[in-house]
Amino acid sequence: MDERRGTPAGRTDAQVCRPAPADRLTIYEKSRPGRGAWSLPELGVPEVPVDGLIPAHLRRTAPARLPEVGEVDLVRHFTGLSTLNFGVDSGSYPLGSCTMKYNPRVNEAAARLEGFSGLHPYQPESLVQGALELMHELESWLVEISGLHAATLQPAAGAHGELTGLLVIRAAHLAEGRDPRRIIIPDTAHGTNPASVVMGGFVPAPVRSDARGGVDMDDLRAVVAEGDIAGLMLTNPNTLGLFDEHIVAIAGLVHDAGGLLYYDGANANAVLGISRPGDMGFDVVHFNTHKTFSTPHGGGGPGAGPIVVRDALAPFLPVPVVERDGDGRFFLQYDRPLSIGKVRTFYGNFGVLVRAWTYIRSLGAEGLRQVSETAVLNANYVMEGLRDILDLPYGERRCMHEFVGSAAPFREHGVRALDVAKRLLDHGVHPPTTYFPLIVDEALMVEPTETESKDALDWLIGAFRSVADEAKEDPALLREAPVTLPVRRLDEAQAARRPVVKQRFAEDGDGGA
Ligand SMILES: *Cc1c(COP(=O)(O)O)cnc(C)c1O
Repeated sequence: MDERRGTPAGRTDAQVCRPAPADRLTIYEKSRPGRGAWSLPELGVPEVPVDGLIPAHLRRTAPARLPEVGEVDLVRHFTGLSTLNFGVDSGSYPLGSCTMKYNPRVNEAAARLEGFSGLHPYQPESLVQGALELMHELESWLVEISGLHAATLQPAAGAHGELTGLLVIRAAHLAEGRDPRRIIIPDTAHGTNPASVVMGGFVPAPVRSDARGGVDMDDLRAVVAEGDIAGLMLTNPNTLGLFDEHIVAIAGLVHDAGGLLYYDGANANAVLGISRPGDMGFDVVHFNTHKTFSTPHGGGGPGAGPIVVRDALAPFLPVPVVERDGDGRFFLQYDRPLSIGKVRTFYGNFGVLVRAWTYIRSLGAEGLRQVSETAVLNANYVMEGLRDILDLPYGERRCMHEFVGSAAPFREHGVRALDVAKRLLDHGVHPPTTYFPLIVDEALMVEPTETESKDALDWLIGAFRSVADEAKEDPALLREAPVTLPVRRLDEAQAARRPVVKQRFAEDGDGGA
């Protein structure tokens, strides 16, 4: 706790905004009466009294308490804040399942082109032919990458794609006069999968993993035998970073039971140009453009979760779809009686789609395959570099784009996965994903991505190894970490449930945090 800030007892660090480490003053504490960062010209029109425009009870009785700072102080303040966060542009970010790859700047240049950024969604089709062509082309590329047949770009995120895909599956069953409710989900699944299943009106039917990290076939047979199978949701490679060796048999079992297969392709970094969900037997896929196709994400920024489906499911896709008429003109087709309807305003997060288009276009087929080959190589390189310090529960297998190690060997020093993750921050590394998937004790899920150089990977391995040494020599330090950052160990539950996001003043009687 920062005594000078007068943080009251009971309020956690997480709830306090701490600006630049050099001087942790808030912008209010930097305020000096009379300073300002603005200058406006004389008013050139008659001033309208606000009295008549805003009702009295909505009007301020005293001026707003705003900080008074000069322009340079203001710029330094926010620049300082902007450097406190970890980001892919500032260092290694091996956050498993999140695919924090570098986002090429050419994507940004393309998204900023005035012909794209200046569009209005109500412009007539004749004036947005380029945008429609881009959407049509991106859809066709996702179709090709997935080995399926028709796409929609509307969903705004991976989880939204899941819901959309499940609604399509529901509509397809209903059209055949059936209404099965159970969707099979392995115990390695991303948390959004069971949530989407429930939101889509289905019931999750869990299935265990086997000793090699794939779907346990005996358990799957037992779950299928209980009947009412609407489908199965699977990530392949799964969140253990392992490719399911039984995928063709799994698809056969589920299809024979009348179910459809949903591929959670949020993270397709291991399979681009190498294996296609359609060939594995999947009927619906979603992609996270913000992971696989490099649009900036994290911090709640916009994403896109396009879905691609097998031809029999195409009539159920959301409206509108982009089509091309006999004269080569693109248009938005709304006349689709079996469609599940719209899932988002207009046509999706268009700027994100421009970035994904640019990424795929600039890499080409060869480049995309190289992305996956390098992502897999890099993950295996880091896994081998850490083999003697972590437990690798599936270490006899080659991992794909990520691997899951266990920090259980540190337990004898009283150190947990969380402590390792927090200490990595002091070493300048964003921590890996921790405690997920749930079936690995003290899980550390590491995804270095293809955009890290060998030097960066060696440095990352070195950081993990230093922390492992410290765990033996000074375990108390790890339990306290991070010790070098402006924000120390957070109470994450309180930070999420009771965030304090607004300036409080001592005079208001609540401690001035
Ligand atoms: C990230 C992720 C999701 C969810 O994607 P969002 O865009 O965050 O909704 C779903 N499944 C897997 C495997 C993921 O890694």
